[in-house]
Amino acid sequence: MKISEIFTSREITVSLELFPPKPGAGFADMKKIVRECADLKPSFISVTCGAGGGGSQNTLEVVREVEAGGVSSLAHLVAMELRRDEISEMLDDLEANGIVNIMALRGDFPPGVTENSGDFRYASDLIAEIKKRGNFCVGGACYPEGHPEAGTWQHDIENLKIKIDAGCEFLTTQMFFDNNILYNFMYRLLKNGINVPIVAGIMPVTNARQIQRIFKLSGAPVPPRFKAITDRFSNNPKAMRQAGIAYASEQIIDLIANGVNNIHIYTMNKPEIAGSIMKNLSEIFR
Ligand code: FAD
Repeated sequence: MKISEIFTSREITVSLELFPPKPGAGFADMKKIVRECADLKPSFISVTCGAGGGGSQNTLEVVREVEAGGVSSLAHLVAMELRRDEISEMLDDLEANGIVNIMALRGDFPPGVTENSGDFRYASDLIAEIKKRGNFCVGGACYPEGHPEAGTWQHDIENLKIKIDAGCEFLTTQMFFDNNILYNFMYRLLKNGINVPIVAGIMPVTNARQIQRIFKLSGAPVPPRFKAITDRFSNNPKAMRQAGIAYASEQIIDLIANGVNNIHIYTMNKPEIAGSIMKNLSEIFR
């Protein structure tokens, strides 16, 4: 089912995200993870893709598994360094497998690189190419705290408008830990004429290593409430896990209470964590 149709047919959507095994790695564990995620009955499951396109076959394999489990899938497609004919082949593969939803991304530059060497400079160029085929529902990424390369928030939002005008039908946010940042961002989107569904990306942070990596990578400021939790519990894995699940659950309750009805859980291949959050919110998600 197209994700655009899922958004119009349900008041609240909850999607999950998986990453495929590395090229050459075994697939048995992945099948189990997909099955456990499918059992949670999410609105759809997205599957990430390695930059450079090297992992796109693995993405396709996982996406096929998701569809076989009776759940709509969203295949990530990353343009970085890819030529038009390579992208065309990937689209052929997706089409041949009946995949109708694509998350179109530019990808991150490898260290020391500042220019995209592929045929698609920005995600909006990739989206325009995909839309030429006519048959795919296409989503894109957005950044409530601004994309790190964008000079100003306004510039970033103007670029998002280009993405929407190219045919992007929904936007999934980068993770954020303070809902007010999302509310401010959504206000600016509306002011700039962007009114596609916004899918709020929630990352349950449940262990100390993950915390250090996430804040280093995203450069996002740590909200004081979250900092207090991590300072207090990061040396106690079980307590940190429980606190991370509770924090994500509360974040989602506040979002839905304020009318943000599309929630995406960065599952990190841990169905049990997504499952705990969904159990906490079973009446809200019903
Ligand atoms: P773009 O939309 O192209 O934006 C990149 C930068 O260029 C921004 O600063 C933007 O303001 C600017 N820009 C855009 N258009 C224009 C224009 N026309 N003129 C001037 N400037 C412009 N990475 C992966 O490798 N694999 C994944 O599966 C993956 N999944 C992701 C899922 C989500 C929900 C998110 C939020 C990110 C994901 N990423 C993934 C990371 C993503 O590839 C990086 O954040 C990357 O740096 C930007 O990708 P983009 O598609 O947002 O790029």
